[in-house]
Amino acid sequence: MRIGIFGGGQLGRMMALAGYPFNLRFSFYDAAQDCPSAPLGQLYGDIAASPASLDAFIASADVFTYEFENIPLAWVEYVASKKPVYPSLKSLAVSQNRIREKQLFQQLAIPAAAYQQVNNQSELQHAIEHLGLPLVVKTTMGGYDGKGQFVIRQAEQVAQAWSELQAGAPLIAEAFVNFERELSIIAVRSQTGDILCYPLAWNTHHQGILSHSIVPAPQVTAQIQAQAEQYITQILHELNHVGVLTLELFQTAHGLFANETAPRVHNSGHWSIEGAICSQFENHMRAVAGLPLGMPTELRPSAMINIIGQHPDTAAILAIPETHLHLYGKSERVGRKLGHITVTASSYEALQQRVAQVAKVLPNKMALISA
Ligand code: AMP
Repeated sequence: MRIGIFGGGQLGRMMALAGYPFNLRFSFYDAAQDCPSAPLGQLYGDIAASPASLDAFIASADVFTYEFENIPLAWVEYVASKKPVYPSLKSLAVSQNRIREKQLFQQLAIPAAAYQQVNNQSELQHAIEHLGLPLVVKTTMGGYDGKGQFVIRQAEQVAQAWSELQAGAPLIAEAFVNFERELSIIAVRSQTGDILCYPLAWNTHHQGILSHSIVPAPQVTAQIQAQAEQYITQILHELNHVGVLTLELFQTAHGLFANETAPRVHNSGHWSIEGAICSQFENHMRAVAGLPLGMPTELRPSAMINIIGQHPDTAAILAIPETHLHLYGKSERVGRKLGHITVTASSYEALQQRVAQVAKVLPNKMALISA
């Protein structure tokens, strides 16, 4: 079976690496000839995104998926008119648009920040009166890694926020959530409707980019894990989702608040390659290929540390026990995700010591240093 993947970044690359052992083969749709997935399959796509390149891509594979959600919906609709695409168009449409996402949370009674759609500067002013300060203003579509976002702390910043984000209007204004920490839950749903959930990850961001995740998130009660599983299960069923889905959450004094969904494998799930019985990538491939799912249970406490901007010394990283290096074949650039490191240990204390060893040899330590 050949899987066609929209996008040839590191997520596509890790999906392919997980699918090869059960003889899956891959086509990627990506305009960049040197994308991380290029060595692992047939590459389609051109900068002009001609219909012919889409037809050739469609002809090349049996079933389709995507590794990023900012693909034109019409393209995926076109593919879906000819071959199966998982996850569903509905999943993609919801996660592409923050307003639709919030409406879904409301419909399913999943707590989330109060919000308003904002179409012009005076509506933004009105949102401050209604939702208070600080106010988190985001583009409804296309934002990632903290891009397309402005936090208004004083009313005088309205004009600045509007001028910075107006190109992405309509905007969404969200009440500020006073969270204790950020968590995410990843789950997978099969073509027959089976659902399995990974343990909650505790995520730390630096300048809008995920710095590191600790899994299972320490100090999570069974009740919090169960609550997160209930929310993601409701979403998976409602969307008739097939494949992996991620739900980003805020942990607050009043329980969990949903932030956003991603209809795909997620950076906060990379730990699962070595830290779980069956990784998020393998489970996504199993679901898309119509195969039984694998157990998401963790083997040991894991830490996933992103390599951002600068490559570390490979030998120095691999000299640390129970440490795994994943490089994505990208060139160095400020703020670019070049790879990740997964560290496992028999206890959180031992994990912390190993993460400190990694921090010593990592060129761009970012938030890791203060962890
Ligand atoms: P997002 O693109 O929605 O994931 O937002 C990026 C980051 O901004 C999140 O990881 C949070 O740290 C922060 N953030 C987003 N929305 C809110 C909110 N409503 N209240 C407080 N912080 C937020």
